[in-house]
Amino acid sequence: MTPISASPSDQLIFAPVGITHLTGDNADLIRAAAAGRSRIRLTTAAQLNGVPHFGTVVTMLTVFAFAQRTGEVLDLPVSIVFDALENAPAEHLTIDSEIYTRSVGDLIDTGHLDRAERVGGFEQLLTWAHRRSGITYEFRPYNVYQGLRPVRECLHHIASRLETFAPIVAPHDGIIRIRPRCPSCRLMQKSAKDLRITALSGAIRLDSRCPRHGPYAELVHIDGGGWYDANTPVRSVQKGYLLAAERDLYDACSVSVDGADWGGAWHAHVLAPALAHLGIPPTHWPVSIFTPLITDRTGGKLSKTLYVARGTYANLPELFLNLDVLLAQHGEQILDLIWAEVTRWAGEPRRLHRTYTVDYITALLEAGRPSEQLRTA
Ligand SMILES: [Zn+2]
Repeated sequence: MTPISASPSDQLIFAPVGITHLTGDNADLIRAAAAGRSRIRLTTAAQLNGVPHFGTVVTMLTVFAFAQRTGEVLDLPVSIVFDALENAPAEHLTIDSEIYTRSVGDLIDTGHLDRAERVGGFEQLLTWAHRRSGITYEFRPYNVYQGLRPVRECLHHIASRLETFAPIVAPHDGIIRIRPRCPSCRLMQKSAKDLRITALSGAIRLDSRCPRHGPYAELVHIDGGGWYDANTPVRSVQKGYLLAAERDLYDACSVSVDGADWGGAWHAHVLAPALAHLGIPPTHWPVSIFTPLITDRTGGKLSKTLYVARGTYANLPELFLNLDVLLAQHGEQILDLIWAEVTRWAGEPRRLHRTYTVDYITALLEAGRPSEQLRTA
C-alpha cells in the first residue's frame, strides 16, 4: 500500500462547518432516533437511467459504509433498502407539440431495452458492497414501492388536499404530477396538462388522455391495484411518510441517505413543509443523512446528463461518468480504494459534511493504483 502520509485524503483542509461542532461521530446524527428501537433501516434510491456514474457509485458505497458504522457504534442490526426507480423516462416523443414519455420499466417490458444493461451495474455495485460490509439489502423496484400501503395513503392525502400541496411540490405551475400512462401504449404526458386527480373514498382516480387512444382513467386503490408515476417531489414526500410509518411497522429507526443536493433547499422547501402538513410528529420524521457531493472543477455537481448532452464536459475522463469504464480501467480493486475513502466519510463528521472535486478523486485514484504502489514501494 501507499504510505498513509502520501494519501491526498490526509492533505485535505477542513473549514469549520456548523454540524461538525455538535457531533463527535456521525452516528450521533441518529443516536436519539435509534434509542429504544430494535433496528436501523436505511433507504436510498437511484433512477435506472443507465450505467451508474461516479457520484452514484460514491453515494451507494457511502450508504453501506454508514450502515456498517452506525450499526457498530449503536450496537443495532442494520439493513438497507435500495429503491430502484425504473419509472425514469427513457423515451421522449413529441406529438401535436406535446411531449410524451415511456419509462425504463415499460421499455424493458416491451423488449426495447435490455434489463441487464439498465440494472446490471447497480446490482454489481450492491453485491460488491454487501460482500465488503456484510450489510444486507433489499432491491425494491418502483413498481413495488408505488403500491406500498403507506405510500398510497400519502398519495390519498395529497390528492385530497391538492391546494395545500401544489405550492410545495409544484411551485412553478401548480400541476401536481401523479401521472397515469395509457393502458394501450404506455405513453405518459410529460406536462400533465390533461391530468385530473380526484380523491375518492379509499382510492384516487387519475384521468388523462392519450394522443393516439383518447381519454382513459386509472383507479389507484389504497389497498392495491393500479399504477401511477409520482414525480420526484411527490415521491420524496411519500418516502418521508413511508419512513415515518415504518418506525412503527418495523420498530426501526428510519434513515434516508441521499446525495447532498437533497439537503438544503430541497429539504427546507419540499420535504419539511410537506411532512408538517401531513401531521407527522417530529419524533417520527425520518433522519436525513446527506452524502458528499462530487463536483466538477467549476464547483457544479458532476452531471451525466450534461456530459451526454454535450459529448464532452469540463474535460472529464469518462470513468467519472460510467462505472463500466471505471472498472475496465482500474479493475474491481478500485472499489476497495473508494471504500477506504468513504468509510472515513461515514465516521468523521468533518469528512461527511463536505464536497469533493473530481481532481481530488483523481489524485486519490492515482495514488492507489498498483503501478504507483510499486513505484513508491
Ligand atoms: Zn395510447
